[in-house]
Amino acid sequence: TGPTANVRRVLLKLSGEAFGGGAVGVDTTVVRRVAGEIELAARHGVQVAIVVGGGNFFRGAQLSQAGIDRSRGDYMGMLGTVMNCLALQDFLEQEGQATRVQTAITMGQVAEPYIPQKAIRHLEKGRVVIFGAGAGMPYFSTDTVSIQRALEIHCAEVLMGKNGVDGVYTADPRKDEQARMFTQLSYKRALVDNLAVMDASALSMARDNNMRIRVFGLEAPGNVTKALEGEDMGTLVCG
Ligand code: UDP
Repeated sequence: TGPTANVRRVLLKLSGEAFGGGAVGVDTTVVRRVAGEIELAARHGVQVAIVVGGGNFFRGAQLSQAGIDRSRGDYMGMLGTVMNCLALQDFLEQEGQATRVQTAITMGQVAEPYIPQKAIRHLEKGRVVIFGAGAGMPYFSTDTVSIQRALEIHCAEVLMGKNGVDGVYTADPRKDEQARMFTQLSYKRALVDNLAVMDASALSMARDNNMRIRVFGLEAPGNVTKALEGEDMGTLVCG
């Protein structure tokens, strides 16, 4: 079931790149800051579910270029996301924020299995829920999982926190000074123009099910809290 009236439930997607700070492994300074910002929004009553990427460890597509079987590489990628989940969980708990990790690949000593009804109960009790191990299936991405989880647990929108950009632009703002940021964008335009929102399977799932996506910049201090609390920022992808 969806949240009761006036309760905001959202899904925050954090890419592995954000966790790694541009390198392999976990940049604890970044994760600690992001955790603090999430805790603040949760304290203000926002129900926060999170999907964590794993690109700071492994990407199956890259491993397969280096000669590793694609599916096995994808499983390595999924396991990487779980390490990010645990790092984020730790900093959230240090802030006094109760947190549960649920993984799509069962690993009982480390996390709960993904059980959507239970995830909803956690959110209702004020716990932050972090989803790890993607969909548990090779050839999927954590972007697609973000849309799927948001739909299944009835989130109002998916918030895509990005590194290096603060929204979706007409061209890469780091290369083209004419590039302009969209404040709003249709699914169709994002798909047809191949704009940097998320991968096409994720975007088409959002379009087919009308899940709103807000793309925003992670780096500016306070931005994560603002996005979670519903501030109009970055680029809204809808209709
Ligand atoms: N992955 C997968 N299935 C999933 C989610 C992720 O196989 O449902 C693998 C895939 O190899 C992917 C890697 O895990 O490259 C890390 O996830 P992703 O690239 O989505 O992370 P991000 O780009 O957000 O850091």
